[in-house]
Amino acid sequence: MILFLGTKPGKTTSKLLQNVACPYCGNKDTLTAVTSTTYFHFFWISLFRVGSFSSISCSHCKRTYYQDEFTEEMQRGIDTGKSLEQTN
Ligand SMILES: [Zn+2]
Repeated sequence: MILFLGTKPGKTTSKLLQNVACPYCGNKDTLTAVTSTTYFHFFWISLFRVGSFSSISCSHCKRTYYQDEFTEEMQRGIDTGKSLEQTN
């Protein structure tokens, strides 16, 4: 028997982190946070959000930071940052 339930990826949002300096190259306004959410679905109908995953990348030095490497400044930038519309 096949159960048509599980998880599927939801929307991906990008945010420009304003006034946050990259810890690696020191440039400001080069960091973009990408957050993807995962939804629990039943027959491909999204029921609820099961989690989200964020990563931040620097457009200058191309470094990518994962959640355990986020600084307080980065976290604040995600909370207050400007969303860039993105669909997937
Ligand atoms: Zn950088």
